[in-house]
This record gives sequence, C-alpha cells and structure tokens, in this order.
Amino acid sequence: MNQKIRIAIDGPSGSGKSTLAKKIAREMGLVYVDTGALYRAVGLYVKRAGVDPSAGLQVTALLPQIQLQLRYTDGGQRVILNGEDVSELIRTPEVTVYASTVSANPSVRKFLLEIQKKMAGEGNVIMDGRDIGTVIMPDADVKLFLEASPAKRAHRRYLEMVEKGEKVTEEEVLAAVIQRDKADSSREIAPAVPADDAIFVDNSGLDAEQTLVKAMEIIGEKLRRTR
Ligand code: C5P
Repeated sequence: MNQKIRIAIDGPSGSGKSTLAKKIAREMGLVYVDTGALYRAVGLYVKRAGVDPSAGLQVTALLPQIQLQLRYTDGGQRVILNGEDVSELIRTPEVTVYASTVSANPSVRKFLLEIQKKMAGEGNVIMDGRDIGTVIMPDADVKLFLEASPAKRAHRRYLEMVEKGEKVTEEEVLAAVIQRDKADSSREIAPAVPADDAIFVDNSGLDAEQTLVKAMEIIGEKLRRTR
C-alpha cells in the first residue's frame, strides 16, 4: 500500500492500549508512538525539580528547560529527556501521578503537541494516548477507543506491579485507577473522551490476542471501506 496509514488508539489507563498498539504496529509494519511516555517524562522532570505538579505557573516555567526525543530501536520506543534515557524511570507509580497532574496544564499540552503532530505527520504510525483521535490526529484513518471495566483494568495493573516486585494491594490499585480516570476525563483541556467517529472496543472479557483479532477486523474493514 503506498498511501500512509495513521491509526489512533485512545482509552483509559490499563485498558491495554499499549499492548494492543504494539501488536498492531508489528502486524502492519507501523511505528508505535506511546504519547503517555511524553507526559511521564515531563512529570519526571517536574518531580526532580521539586516542583508541585499542580502549580501551573511553576510547571510552565520549567518547560523551556526540557528537551524530549523519542528514539526507536528493535526493543521499541525509548524516551530521551535532556539526553538521558528515562524509559524505565518514568514507569513508577509516583511519576504516574505527576504525569496525570501535569497533563491537565494547558502549556504542557501545547509543549507536547508539536512533537506529537510531527510524528503523526510522518504517517505509517499508530499512536496511543487520551486525545489522539480528538486533537493529535483528528483525521486518522481508524480511531479505536479501548475500554475495560475499572475492576478489570485495576486487576491487570496489579498483576504487572506485583511482577515488578512492588508492594501494593488490589484495592489500592483500583482506587488509583478510579482517581486517574476521573482526573483525565474531567479536565478542561483535551479531556480523555472518545472522538465522535471512534469505534469502541470493550476488552473486559478478552485477552490480548483476542483484542488484537477484534481490532484487526475493525481496522481491515474500515480501510477497505475508505480506500
Ligand atoms: O498512558 P499513560 O498511562 O502512560 O499516560 C500517563 C498520563 O499522561 C495519563 O494519566 C494522562 O493524564 C496523560 N496523557 C494525556 N494525553 C495523552 C497521553 C497521556 O493526557 N495523549
């Protein structure tokens, strides 16, 4: 196919967006862009600077000090913050809270818009996040909105965390999931809501492979109809 493909995947935390997006990328030969990693990297910088992530003006003042790059290797996307590979450091529960908080800051979103638009413009890309179908790629070829019940998402996240050796209870993880959903969907700027033309996939009862099959069916059908 010589026309470039662009796929958007949005949905709440723990819905399996990144797992699905990676698989689709492999299947279709697309570049996978994890946009949450950019918010996480800003969150990490703010944390290291000792700044309250909800202090809007102070966070905004830090942005000129931040240089972000996404690099692609066989192992996937690496996030480079001012020359340092922070791909693992941005995955802690603390940085997650910083990322979610700074993502409600309009200047942070504006700051990250350009790098995301650039990746989107290159095409043959699958991007996941919260506002990909609404803001970053409103004209994507296919927009999926991935959902699963909060309990299911918390359970998956809990298993991931336990595997990493973190000491948490499933109740704590569920409370954090619910809290983050609320913050992400109720913020004034780019709330995590589905685009009008997004196709919903609820994967509460599906495993990763079944979710892939369902998503590929939807993508295949959409591309056949529109091309
Ligand atoms: O997807 P991930 O959990 O890594 O995202 C971390 C945080 O970044 C989310 O809680 C959300 O607040 C924010 N985010 C966003 N817009 C995106 C991607 C992530 O606001 N496109």
